[in-house]
Amino acid sequence: MNIIIFGPPGAGKGTQSDKIVKKYKLFKVSTGDLLRDEINKKTQLGKEIKEIVDSGKLVSDKIINRLIEKVIADERYKNNIIFDGYPRNLEQAENLKNLLKKFNQKIDLVISLEVSLDSIVKRITGRLVCSKCGNTYNEFFNPPPSRLTCCKDGNLKKRSDDNVETAKKRYLTYQTSTEPVLDYYKKFGLLENISGENKIDEISNKIADFINLIRGWL
Ligand code: AMP
Repeated sequence: MNIIIFGPPGAGKGTQSDKIVKKYKLFKVSTGDLLRDEINKKTQLGKEIKEIVDSGKLVSDKIINRLIEKVIADERYKNNIIFDGYPRNLEQAENLKNLLKKFNQKIDLVISLEVSLDSIVKRITGRLVCSKCGNTYNEFFNPPPSRLTCCKDGNLKKRSDDNVETAKKRYLTYQTSTEPVLDYYKKFGLLENISGENKIDEISNKIADFINLIRGWL
């Protein structure tokens, strides 16, 4: 089963996909994480990517498509993926369709987490990510076990693009480039909208209901 989780920045895609990964033993593919890995390598490409990410715009489809093809071509992940933050525009959605066809796979479920801009700004300014295990927390809504650390040797850090100004730009980018992708999947009857304003466990229970329905567990 392949799933896509959509939502504006700070909607809780990362938190929810981590829960799904644990429960259903899926692999999470986050293009944002793949890009941050490249940024951390401090390569020339990484520096170029950082500039774009910090501006709140989208990285070029060419870079994203190359990263994604590697994942979809990998037999270990076959039909067992949750895509977080991808596809971000219609071109990427078309590319994903072609790649999945090429490697004999399909999308089974598309989830959209809906959250207002006000909540997003609050969430994004409180977001903390563990530098080692990648767990995400929020200073206000989902505090970490300790103020500065998560797991052994892991420091909690803020992302460089998690500030109010960039958050607003990312929200706008989401509305203009990514929301049309929701209609694209709606036409295929794959889209389920869920309010991302509810409590974390309430949202994950809703998502689980949809997944179980598809798997024939209900
Ligand atoms: P995320 O971690 O998903 O919030 O992504 C952080 C930033 O990485 C975004 O604001 C974009 O600049 C970039 N990014 C992530 N995924 C994509 C994608 N599929 N296409 C283009 N840019 C992306």
